[in-house]
Amino acid sequence: MRRWNGWGDDTVQYPLGARALAFLREAVGEATAPRDVSAADVLATIPPTRLSGLPGQELISIEEWPRLLHARGQSLADWVALRSGCIPAFPDGVAFPLTKSDVAYLLEYAEEIDARVIPYGGGTSVVGHITPEPGDRPVLTINMRRMNQLAQLDSISLLATFGAGVAGPELEAHLRARGFTLGHFPQSFEFSTLGGWVATRSSGQQSLGYGRIESLFAGGTLLAPAGEMRLPPFPASAAGPDLRQLVLGSEGRLGILTDATVRITPLPEHEEFQAIFFPDFVDATTAVRRIVQARLPLSLLRLSTPMETRTTLALAGHERLIGLLETMLGVRGVGDDKCMLLCGFTGPSAAVRDARHATIDTAREHGGVNAGRRFGEQWMEGRFRTPYLRNTLWDLGYAVDTLETATTWDRVPRMVDQIEAALYSAVPNGERIHVFTHLSHVYPQGASIYTTYLFRISTDPDGTLRRWEALKGAASRTIVREGGTISHQHGVGRDHAPYLEAEKGALGMAALAGVTTIFDPDGRMNPDVLLNDHWSVGGNR
Ligand SMILES: Cc1cc2nc3c(=O)[nH]c(=O)nc-3n(C[C@H](O)[C@H](O)[C@H](O)COP(=O)(O)OP(=O)(O)OC[C@H]3O[C@@H](n4cnc5c(N)ncnc54)[C@H](O)[C@@H]3O)c2cc1C
Repeated sequence: MRRWNGWGDDTVQYPLGARALAFLREAVGEATAPRDVSAADVLATIPPTRLSGLPGQELISIEEWPRLLHARGQSLADWVALRSGCIPAFPDGVAFPLTKSDVAYLLEYAEEIDARVIPYGGGTSVVGHITPEPGDRPVLTINMRRMNQLAQLDSISLLATFGAGVAGPELEAHLRARGFTLGHFPQSFEFSTLGGWVATRSSGQQSLGYGRIESLFAGGTLLAPAGEMRLPPFPASAAGPDLRQLVLGSEGRLGILTDATVRITPLPEHEEFQAIFFPDFVDATTAVRRIVQARLPLSLLRLSTPMETRTTLALAGHERLIGLLETMLGVRGVGDDKCMLLCGFTGPSAAVRDARHATIDTAREHGGVNAGRRFGEQWMEGRFRTPYLRNTLWDLGYAVDTLETATTWDRVPRMVDQIEAALYSAVPNGERIHVFTHLSHVYPQGASIYTTYLFRISTDPDGTLRRWEALKGAASRTIVREGGTISHQHGVGRDHAPYLEAEKGALGMAALAGVTTIFDPDGRMNPDVLLNDHWSVGGNR
């Protein structure tokens, strides 16, 4: 069963060994396991529903359990709320539509009772996309997970149409059974959905080869309070602005995506993952930039800073294997400041071989040492398991959060330094923080920067929240000041809304606000995300 107050399936554990525990104590200090509230305690706090004239229990549930499960996402603030039971608002009901007509009916019902509507995919948002705010209007969350069918697969044009509630494993299972893949693998793959990917402009780990969701999303259907918008899956079009770009990143504000057509790829003939270690981050960054600018057919380049490399190796287990690796690297001149680069090669066997040779040759020119497939394959096998570490850390008394941006190559090194410095300087007195970073997605023009920070949970949930707010605020202000985007892949939600104007400008914000008014004149659709109160029309009444 899926955990109600943590990550993932409750049968999956991520135990840490003695070396990992010692590493954490050394990094941020001894922690105390928090006293979390039970589900029964939280269920007892849920107020009666405000939904009236219910259309039928099979479409909308007003039971406490689904209302609790849909109250929060996966941000650190969400975890603090769930673990402490301090949840100021719950959805008044959760709908589970099966068809487009059900969705249309639910939107009509929401209009009749003047409810706010929160479209919901897998609930994996990490920036407060799906959290109901307290307010006078009732809140109806519409969970799209039952709309998960493969409607059509066109193997001639390489297009597949799915219900927007399809989650990663189901979508890939449908495609793989027919010899295809979408190639979209966000780390939340197990639970996140196609509709959620589109609505948040998600990026999968192998986007270097397959593209981000905005290049995979070919079209679909959006049901909005103002009507229906169909987006045909043209391969390309010069017919004015591309309306798909309005839906991509719309975060539920314009309406509900009921189905989506995606661009698929035949399963690759060959795929392999390798790890290369560099003596330092400057050399490694230059090598990665050169590799990506050579436009080799890679599907993944993921470069860790020395601190992230150290942390990954310390938490990974496999102590004997890592000992052997470190000895081998030491002999080859790769010491304490080593940086790990993971490379994915995907495609026809000959192209993979050529790309591997070219990558390793370029890496070698910058001191890179090829550690072979073992570490690459291990990363690949465990890549959806890593988020389970959050549960283990929390139970030990450690909170962990991530933040991300993207910027051009000339700014990458400074941005990494400045974000990390901002986090270190925002730590409250007497506390320590452990910060590490990787470049998660690279482009010929620049890279995304993905920083993880870990600190001790306070005995008082408000104290933990204040620590997080101070850290997140300092890092976000730094990203804006240094000219990065406020999000490369997680989206805007509530947490990033105050920073959006810095990159969109006043005219851009007014255009976005105007568009939401056309699709949703009453400000009914997820009114608390993307645009803050200043730009929201009809906002959080
Ligand atoms: C452990 C972990 C790892 C993650 N790794 C990645 C990663 O590698 N890459 C990445 O990009 N993100 C990642 N994320 C963030 C998150 O998974 C993405 O934002 C994902 O796209 C959200 O999909 P979802 O289906 O869970 O959407 P939800 O969280 O349910 O919703 C997100 C937003 O989309 C809207 N929405 C959902 N479905 C629809 C629909 N059918 N129509 C209209 N609006 C809709 C919601 O209203 C909301 O605003 C990660 C999150 C976690 C917790």
